[in-house]
Amino acid sequence: MQFAARTQQIRSSHIREILKVAANPAMISFAGGLPNPEVFPVAELAEASAAVFKVEGRAALQYANSEGLLELREWISARYLSRHGITIPADEILITSGSQQALDLLGKVLIDPGQSVIVEEPAYLGALQAFAMYEPRLLHVPLEADGVNIDALERTVAGISAADRQPVFYSTPDSQNPAGVTCSAEKRRRIAALSDRLTIIEDNPYGELVYDLTTPQPPLLRALDDRVILLGSFSKIIAPGMRLGWVCAHRPLYDRLVIARQAADLHTSALSQLILARYLATNDLDAHIAQLRATYRANRDAMLAAIEQYFPAGAVELIRPGGGMFLWCRLTNGVSAEALFHIAMQSNVLFVPGTAFYPEANRAGDQYMRLNFSNASPDSIRAGIERLGHAIADCVRSARGMPATSTAANSVSTEIL
Ligand code: PMP
Repeated sequence: MQFAARTQQIRSSHIREILKVAANPAMISFAGGLPNPEVFPVAELAEASAAVFKVEGRAALQYANSEGLLELREWISARYLSRHGITIPADEILITSGSQQALDLLGKVLIDPGQSVIVEEPAYLGALQAFAMYEPRLLHVPLEADGVNIDALERTVAGISAADRQPVFYSTPDSQNPAGVTCSAEKRRRIAALSDRLTIIEDNPYGELVYDLTTPQPPLLRALDDRVILLGSFSKIIAPGMRLGWVCAHRPLYDRLVIARQAADLHTSALSQLILARYLATNDLDAHIAQLRATYRANRDAMLAAIEQYFPAGAVELIRPGGGMFLWCRLTNGVSAEALFHIAMQSNVLFVPGTAFYPEANRAGDQYMRLNFSNASPDSIRAGIERLGHAIADCVRSARGMPATSTAANSVSTEIL
């Protein structure tokens, strides 16, 4: 069979491969980017769902409009106004089947083959996958502890000829996936100042998941420049299985996105949208988010404390993430994350090696591991980090030509704690 040329740029997702092994119940997985199912509002959504079937079951089961349920778009618009002081009219909000679909639609509408697309390095794998389908020329700008390297971004933009199509810049300024970093207000201002020369996509699924509430939150890029295309999602604050996200865009981009989405799936599930709208109308979302924050803050702190306790001294360098779901660790002592991954897997603990988030040819990612802290209890976080600490010690020993103290599996209890 012959495949379209565009499929050649696609890499299989390491994460999906890893998730297959994660199904083993003895495994403690820090690999997936999953929210914690213990905090899904199951009972509330069941109640909202029953009410939808009772009151508007026929509408819920019928085809719906491509833009999305107006009530939901109005809710999103009102939240931007109350939380961020920005006005985004409901008719410039398109409900998508997760924000992942919005990334794909933006690729379809904005990216021609060879088009320059600037991404952070490391970057969210799902965005790289979505864009790859449209055969862009990807330009990578390093990410630092306070956001993208802004001088490098400015240089990259300056290096693109004015005769070329306007480049796209894709960024996750709040609690980035995988690196967990939040872009400073100063850098945001400099990014937004490039709006004349860049089409900026701001992906913001983690904006509500902040744990250090004493530090003021920097403004959205969209608040600094109205041209910024802003993406949001209910996946991390309600439940990803509902597949509800959105994209905010002005016309004429909005109209093209609607046409592209009609070709893809006609509309987002009417049933999901009606259930969520009812949930939002009858529950206190802020109370729910406060509970999520408390749970994830405790998990993050448990992971940081366990690393302190169980990793060999100086084995990793990390930035304490102020939000989101990930710890991004740099392995010192020349330990390879991919080599460590195989040893750790035999000890029944998983993470994602940093190489997954870098271009294939760039081995810099092999110094990093991404650890998810949302989808585990503090007890299993401690147990998993203890196993990982032993695996790192073994890796360091074998890098120095010394025998390992343990060959993983037999030294580690497979009991899940
Ligand atoms: N953007 C980023 C940065 C993400 O981490 C994710 C999910 N892991 C998504 C978009 C897609 O999320 P969803 O489609 O569930 O809204």
